[in-house]
Amino acid sequence: MKKIPLSTSLSSVLRTTERHVKLLKEIEIQTVADLLTYFPREYEDQTHITHISEIRGDQKNVLRGRFSMVRREQTRNRMILVKAVFTDEDGNSLECVWFNQPYLHTMIPAGKLVTVVGKAKLSFGKISLQSPTFEEVSEETVHTGRIVPIYPEHGKLNTSWFRTKIFPLLDTIEPFPNLLPEDVIHEQNFLEKHEAILEMHFPTSMEKLENAKKTLAFEELFLLQLASLDRKKKWKESAEGKARKIPLDPELQKQFFATLPFVPTNSQKIAIFEILKDLEKPVPMLRLLEGDVGSGKTLVAISAAIAVISQGYQVAIMAPTEILAEQHYEKITETLSLFPFPRTGEAGIRKQELGMRNQESGEEKDTVFSRSRPSSGDPNEGHQRRGDSCLTQSLQTALLTGSIKGKKRAEILENLRKGKIDLIMGTHALIEETVEFRNLGLVIIDEQHRFGVRQREKLVRHGSPHLLQMTATPIPRTLAIVAFGDQDLSVLTEMPPGRKPIHTKVVPPQGRRQIELFVEQEVKKGHQAFVICPLVSESEKIEAKAAEEEFIRLKKDIFPHLKLALVHGRMKPKEKDQVMENFKNKKFDILISTSVIEVGIDIPNANIILIEGAERFGLAQLHQFRGRVGRSEMQSYCFLFPTDQPTERIKAMEKIYDGFKLAEIDLKLRGPGEVFGLKQSGIPDLKMASFSDGRLVVRARQEAEKFLEEKRGFSAFPLIEREVERMNAEVLGGG
Ligand code: ADP
Ligand code: MG
Repeated sequence: MKKIPLSTSLSSVLRTTERHVKLLKEIEIQTVADLLTYFPREYEDQTHITHISEIRGDQKNVLRGRFSMVRREQTRNRMILVKAVFTDEDGNSLECVWFNQPYLHTMIPAGKLVTVVGKAKLSFGKISLQSPTFEEVSEETVHTGRIVPIYPEHGKLNTSWFRTKIFPLLDTIEPFPNLLPEDVIHEQNFLEKHEAILEMHFPTSMEKLENAKKTLAFEELFLLQLASLDRKKKWKESAEGKARKIPLDPELQKQFFATLPFVPTNSQKIAIFEILKDLEKPVPMLRLLEGDVGSGKTLVAISAAIAVISQGYQVAIMAPTEILAEQHYEKITETLSLFPFPRTGEAGIRKQELGMRNQESGEEKDTVFSRSRPSSGDPNEGHQRRGDSCLTQSLQTALLTGSIKGKKRAEILENLRKGKIDLIMGTHALIEETVEFRNLGLVIIDEQHRFGVRQREKLVRHGSPHLLQMTATPIPRTLAIVAFGDQDLSVLTEMPPGRKPIHTKVVPPQGRRQIELFVEQEVKKGHQAFVICPLVSESEKIEAKAAEEEFIRLKKDIFPHLKLALVHGRMKPKEKDQVMENFKNKKFDILISTSVIEVGIDIPNANIILIEGAERFGLAQLHQFRGRVGRSEMQSYCFLFPTDQPTERIKAMEKIYDGFKLAEIDLKLRGPGEVFGLKQSGIPDLKMASFSDGRLVVRARQEAEKFLEEKRGFSAFPLIEREVERMNAEVLGGG
């Protein structure tokens, strides 16, 4: 008989109703292949047959035997019972009862050998089974007496529907082709793809099932990593020779460190070194810097920036919101103002001329964009240290956001084009078409998850600058190498010393009043608080409404004497910024905000954060919220209000202050989708594999690297090629 191709539409092979086909479509099942890659969520091992003589009360049993004396009865309260006697192969009997399923009366195959599965009930010394499932014993047992698959249900598509439809298909379809190369399958002792699919649905043993899962998980991880390695390779090939080579200059870094009020942590030094090594190469750097909130990523960014600027190139730092961009601008400009900046290279000479001119005319350059450091009094210090072609002066920084318009904007754009600005900070505005650089050497993207890969590709237009992305999302390493496999990774694993841990407490419903009084007390001392509203839905509109209600409730009933403000995602960016700005300037005591809004602003005077509906959030996200406080010398507090009694998961917040550890816990308990919000983070949704299976991730990574090295391309592997192209199109399209 001709086998059915995997791409066949289900409506032409399944005997089922229109309604079922429509339901299938809703869960994106349209072809034979779709249905056969719809896997059970769990299995029930019913291979062990129990004898009636061994049954104890209140446990599930799988029995084999025959029914007799099938009958129907009505109880006094008009319930219909179907009863039958069941006798096992030892000759022992018990009674089976079904409630309100009168049709069973004719369906019970009396006299035939059946498998029966059900919970035993013991009363008055008599054992009975209540509403057991049963199935005739045959070669093709689907529902009982084997390792039984249990499918995720969707409306009328229940688990037995899936079993009944999938089972007969398995024999009639064309085999699934292997995607993994044959040698990998054999070396790693995996199953052939087709066998793995069969085992996933109707396992012949638990061991085979385990191997099937592993095979498919490995295939998924392998392909994902091939795709990201392929992206990386293409990026490097296309940009080879284009990047500005920045010679490593440890002296420069030392001089910069000497101007800081603190000593960089070891983690910071290592990350800086890794970056400087990348910058030496003719291929643009593509690196992700991960570090918990407050771990000091900005310093690493500045170090990279000065290395590049010292060679006469420009640097751009891009942040997701205007407030964050402004904050960077202020802090970074201030930090750099203390650093007597030496420069070499082309722009160094240019600056030298510029500096001379300024000195001659005795006037400061226009200050829309520049903040010169206070004069050190020794114009020659740069010369003494660094030879003739350099000069000491502060570097020119500027801010560019959407709200900078008109003449000011034109001026900044011109200065950028002419190379008079060394370091520009801003928002998306920086990658608009109208922005031109003289010689952009490095782009730093803060809070990388807010930008897509697409936006990154836009930068190539500026002559392939080096790229450093930064994120505070604690992405466990295994996850990072799969999700961001096309980038190199640096991790800040330690916090600057001397931070006070934020006192964190999960508050049960009855403790609420006490906390409210505490907040009032703190506010009276001049401090401020955040309130994060619960995550109610994906819709910003509904979120906003809930936040408004919470705002009104707090204002009217709880804190009538305090000044409250509200921000949510439905407000215009301008309005949001205004509220935040006012809060920062202490015009309000308490800021109520939805979770959709990134409260990425530094408000050192706020020392309390209340998080409502805490159990709805991932731990990593709660940790991010918590990072909004604890930004000054004062003791800070984080109070978590679950809607119900506190769970163990939430309680972890009281003990653990390491974002990575919290993310690991959540990753295990809830999966990456919940933890990181797949859509915005660019993290792929894994069907089979788990990010927490570090060993499999690493093995797949090694095989993918080996594959690319040995096979030199995909030409002999059209299926792999197609898959990789599809994945890459998805990633690049999503930006
Ligand atoms: P994040 O990684 O969240 O961007 P920041 O770069 O904003 O963190 O740093 C948080 C704070 O820690 C800043 O005030 C910064 O000046 C300070 N900081 C950074 N590095 C160190 C260090 N090595 N020692 C002490 N303080 C540091
Ligand atoms: Mg930061």
